[in-house]
Amino acid sequence: MEIAIIGAGPGGLTCARVLQKAGMPVTVYDADTALTARDQGGTLDIHADTGQIALADAGLTAEFAALARPEGQSKRMLDPSGAVVMEHLVDDDEDTAPEIDRAQLRGLLAASLAPGTIRWGHRVTEVRPGGEVVLADRPPITADLVIGADGAWSRVRPLLTPATPEYTGISFVEVRFTEVDERHPAIAELVGQGHMWANGDGQNLILQRNSGGHVRGYVGIRAELDWLARAGLGRADGRGGVVDANGVQALDTERVRAELLERFAHFAAPLRRVITDSEGDLVNRPIFALPAPLAWPHRPGLTLLGDAAHLMSPFGGEGVNLAMLDGAELAREIAAGGAPDEAVTRYETRMLARSGPVAAGANGAIKEFFEGGFDLADVPDFAEETEQWKANAAAYLAGREN
Ligand SMILES: Cc1cc2nc3c(=O)[nH]c(=O)nc-3n(C[C@H](O)[C@H](O)[C@H](O)COP(=O)(O)OP(=O)(O)OC[C@H]3O[C@@H](n4cnc5c(N)ncnc54)[C@H](O)[C@@H]3O)c2cc1C
Repeated sequence: MEIAIIGAGPGGLTCARVLQKAGMPVTVYDADTALTARDQGGTLDIHADTGQIALADAGLTAEFAALARPEGQSKRMLDPSGAVVMEHLVDDDEDTAPEIDRAQLRGLLAASLAPGTIRWGHRVTEVRPGGEVVLADRPPITADLVIGADGAWSRVRPLLTPATPEYTGISFVEVRFTEVDERHPAIAELVGQGHMWANGDGQNLILQRNSGGHVRGYVGIRAELDWLARAGLGRADGRGGVVDANGVQALDTERVRAELLERFAHFAAPLRRVITDSEGDLVNRPIFALPAPLAWPHRPGLTLLGDAAHLMSPFGGEGVNLAMLDGAELAREIAAGGAPDEAVTRYETRMLARSGPVAAGANGAIKEFFEGGFDLADVPDFAEETEQWKANAAAYLAGREN
């Protein structure tokens, strides 16, 4: 059986690894020209009850542990005056949801595959009924099973559902700092060992410590999708960016900075340094989500996993965890033998039932957080959450034994 996975993100790579471990042939196609062709974003917490189970199925627990940062789970919350309203410190032996850089996670998964499994520079433009995968500037390929692991703007999804991602009303502008302890001590103090949030009404500053002295974060705002265009920075491109008169993507970082500083004028000076001191471009990332819960009638020869199936807001940090668990579960079902179509149906039934409520919760949480200000009472009890993840993991594994 020819299996084609479209997308070498964490979900697609986990699926490929678990299939290969079971001796099944698989090829992964990705639009990127190489593993490191694009900046891979920030840090991800890998949960005991989802992502870590997938990594165990992939036989990569030790590789993950070697890179993971348990102390990165520490959290601080500040109010706009800079006062700390909550602090939660995590020891470096707490392994319930350790952090890892997204680039490191993708790298360790990619390195676990047989050479040549991933075909870089293969951009899928369309998938046709019958398993024909149309590629940009290359001949098409065919497969018995096409797995859409191609993220938010999946080219596989239109064959299964007309649903498309919708703007949540929240935009995140990326900030970054290198050699933070030496070059940006004020930022290093704000972020501590893990995460920092500073919350206003419809404004939120987020910092996250990554490996190698890097800090990445987001300036989150409740805003129209075309807020940059409305601020006079160019013509809206429909995805939160702006283009110039020639249709070329335009980004005037200093004007973006000035616009953000205006929106955060009532934040204390040390917090505003997140905006003033950020290095490089201030890239706008509007947060899109698929309608949730989402389901589709099963169609032989095709399926979806991860963001392609259930793109959700990042609140709750479940996106990558579910993507990896989807990938591992789908691979295990296929590798168990029997009719592939029945295996995929079993996977879809479980995956859709699991992801629907999680996505609906994450999409509701981001809207609530950015509307009407922040309520400390809404902050989860982290100790309770940790115990819940452990209990969920035990229940999931016990359920699988039966
Ligand atoms: C600001 C932000 C913060 C986040 N923070 C967290 C967090 O803290 N915790 C968490 O769990 N999740 C977080 N997420 C979500 C997380 O990044 C995603 O859920 C996760 O990466 C999904 O994995 P995936 O494999 O399904 O898709 P992706 O990681 O999106 O991978 C898709 C792959 O498909 C490829 N591709 C796309 N289109 C094509 C095409 N046409 N042809 C071929 N290849 C294609 C891409 O190059 C990519 O490699 C965050 C997301 C955002 C936007």
